[in-house]
Amino acid sequence: MPEEVRKAMDQAAGSFVDLHQLQLSVGERLAELTHNEAAYVSCGAASGLLLATAACISRHTADAYEDFSKLNGVPNEVIVQKMHRNSYDYAVQEAGAKMVEIGSNEGTQIEDLERAVSPATVAIFWFQGAMNDPSELSLKDVIRSAGKHKVPVIVDAAAQLPPVSNLWNFTQQGADLVIFSGGKDLAGPQASGLILGSKDLIERIRGYGAPYHGVGRPMKVGKEEMMGLLAAVERYLNLDHESLLQTYEKRVQFWISGLDGKKGILAQRDYPNEAGQPVPRTRVELPVEMPKEEVIDALMKGEPRVAVAPSENGNALLLNPMTVIDGESEIVLERLLQVLG
Ligand SMILES: *Cc1c(COP(=O)(O)O)cnc(C)c1O
Repeated sequence: MPEEVRKAMDQAAGSFVDLHQLQLSVGERLAELTHNEAAYVSCGAASGLLLATAACISRHTADAYEDFSKLNGVPNEVIVQKMHRNSYDYAVQEAGAKMVEIGSNEGTQIEDLERAVSPATVAIFWFQGAMNDPSELSLKDVIRSAGKHKVPVIVDAAAQLPPVSNLWNFTQQGADLVIFSGGKDLAGPQASGLILGSKDLIERIRGYGAPYHGVGRPMKVGKEEMMGLLAAVERYLNLDHESLLQTYEKRVQFWISGLDGKKGILAQRDYPNEAGQPVPRTRVELPVEMPKEEVIDALMKGEPRVAVAPSENGNALLLNPMTVIDGESEIVLERLLQVLG
């Protein structure tokens, strides 16, 4: 975490505060900074998905979360495109929702969505990321159809920074709630998440989180996380994103020039990255006699430990320039060359 984030957390740790009041004030400031109606700090994007779903269920059954048994038989269906299903959507189900899949892995049609909407529908989920494909229903079409049926659209944009403009892009397009992870590119506290969007839905979320009792009570957010995330967002908005991108490009090129053609390696620029962020990475194609698993293992056993990702296909490694600081690209290159003999 950057200095200013740690400082904000440290100052928060040394102060007595009213937690509800702090959520309100930090939320107001975050909403203003990100050009949204309202904002809430959760303890991670995954808990944001749960709280957002709970808020949508509570629009239909006011006492849904007073007593667990009251979740029986209430409208709880969340529509999602089959190709958007991923392991994070368990958080949506934890709010008591049932996922209703539409379309197939080959594509989704607007008729699939129209057929699935019913009085039991509480929300439509949209997962933004590398899974997005031209054959899916577009966010624009989803928002248009949802508006017609007065069903909220929730966007999981946990890893969708950069670009910084995503903090307002999705809500300006008409999404009702958008969720970001505080501990990814925002470089805020690991245990923080940012929920942005509709005032009505965020007021509902507020009522379910600590210090109140309800479905969000076990997902307490500390004053340190609230102040740390606010400092992180302020910092992020002021970063020179253009020059950061150039730094990433330089790291990628540095790895390519140090590796390409050496010991049977083919190193290339790869774009975008696994989260679909508009950031390059280096793809390192290894010779057949060097299985990627063995290289990854050896890098993790070294000193310092270097973590690299395996490619989804082929015998290759992926080097991400976002997760090193100045001076560390050299270490990664040196360790890789050592491991490759
Ligand atoms: C990382 C991620 C999350 C979870 O974020 P946390 O802040 O770790 O809870 C949820 N959804 C997607 C798509 C993610 O990439």
